[in-house]
Amino acid sequence: MKKISVVLFNTLSREKEVFKPIKEKTVGLYSCGPTVYLHAHIGNMRAYLFVDFLRRTLEYNGFKVKHVMNITDVGHLFGDEDDGKDKMEESAKREKKNIWDVAKHYTDLFLKDIDSLNILRANILPRATDHIKDQIELIKTLEKKGYTYRISDGIYFDTSKLKEYGKLARLNLKGLKEGARVKKNIEKKNPTDFALWKFSPKDKKRQMEWDSPWGIGFPGWHIECSTMSTKYLGQPFDIHTGGIDHIPVHHVNEIAQSEAAYDKPLANFWMHNAFLNLKNGKMSKSEGKILVLDDLIKMGFSALDFRYLVLTSHYRSELKFSKESMIAAHNTFNRLKEYVIELKKTAKNKINNENIEKFKEMFLKAINTDLNTPEALSVLWKVIRSNLNTEEKLILIEDFDQVLGLGLKDLKNESKIPKEIEKVVKKREIARKGKKWAEADKLRNLILEKGFIVEDRKSGPMIKKA
Ligand code: AMP
Ligand code: ZN
Repeated sequence: MKKISVVLFNTLSREKEVFKPIKEKTVGLYSCGPTVYLHAHIGNMRAYLFVDFLRRTLEYNGFKVKHVMNITDVGHLFGDEDDGKDKMEESAKREKKNIWDVAKHYTDLFLKDIDSLNILRANILPRATDHIKDQIELIKTLEKKGYTYRISDGIYFDTSKLKEYGKLARLNLKGLKEGARVKKNIEKKNPTDFALWKFSPKDKKRQMEWDSPWGIGFPGWHIECSTMSTKYLGQPFDIHTGGIDHIPVHHVNEIAQSEAAYDKPLANFWMHNAFLNLKNGKMSKSEGKILVLDDLIKMGFSALDFRYLVLTSHYRSELKFSKESMIAAHNTFNRLKEYVIELKKTAKNKINNENIEKFKEMFLKAINTDLNTPEALSVLWKVIRSNLNTEEKLILIEDFDQVLGLGLKDLKNESKIPKEIEKVVKKREIARKGKKWAEADKLRNLILEKGFIVEDRKSGPMIKKA
């Protein structure tokens, strides 16, 4: 097969670039993970599904991937500025729980959801609170190099000291200085300066706080990602991911800290997913209009129905979420599963490698072109509608599913159909073979009364839930 390079859109250059790893064959991938103060919603899940498509595409191309995803359990304030309330502390207060229990509870829910969505777990899932010492060390390095200053509520990073501050977001610093981003904290030297270490309030005891060379407090949000990415992947590493909302503040500040400390780039590729939106805009916890995966399950959908829906839109395009779009994804995915089950039942044929290679090449071209998953799905349906034989189709579908992750390889028909129904279906088959049509109809009605439909296909009876 022709060699097809992996091409990825790099937010740094705003261009699609051929991907080449720093170390031959092993890719260092870092993804900003969940802030574990609430149940992550399906918009967040879109971000993790995007990373999963990326990782699976790299692996499909023969790369080994070392994937790190952080768990933010401290330091993230509301509003991405440094004077909002603390997300974790507020949740603990609202739920009247110990903050560590809150963090554990939402981390567990996050892991349960990503498992249901067939998202491969990162090789390393480091927690910010397990890396406080490392974060303090990094701040000390920045302090030694003259990038920090102290004001009444913490130690801040002086962004005016970096020539290229904001390059990822192409920030207009002059515009910002003139007031585009409100300078809420009058002690800050520049509106873009951000906290590296925040002091605990004098009048209150926080649940999460640590001693440091500057006083008791907690790390700013961005320092954890600079610290943990470099600790586990080195600097620079290959690819850093997150949602587009992270570009102007969080990722710009990660780059500032890491490049200031070590005088080299943090990551070669920066990749960002667009939002999952509701009718009135972004799904977000702070806006209050959120759906979690369990809500979809309660509505009668499966986690993989949602995965199918996310595959139907390119990761850099907005995904408009509605019940109608979910129903459409559910129906199409059901058809796909029924088709695959049918294929699995039929006899094995001889395969023609040329047929297989032709479709594999089409699929590879789709995913290697900046993860074009809608096109990859359309190649899958082309295979289904093609005149390939059943064995060839199955081989291709299972091969593609290494990237799509829809669980098609392990799909079985029997599991959901009770034994009792299968027995009646068998009886009906015997009646049909003996041309006892009245009895066959009676048995079909009996099956229907028990909540199942039987359809007569060339390959045999197909049983479905009514
Ligand atoms: P957070 O837990 O708020 O830090 O967000 C976790 C990840 O989800 C980040 O990469 C965000 O950029 C991403 N994200 C948040 N809201 C959405 C959304 N509505 N659609 C897609 N990604 C989102
Ligand atoms: Zn991050």
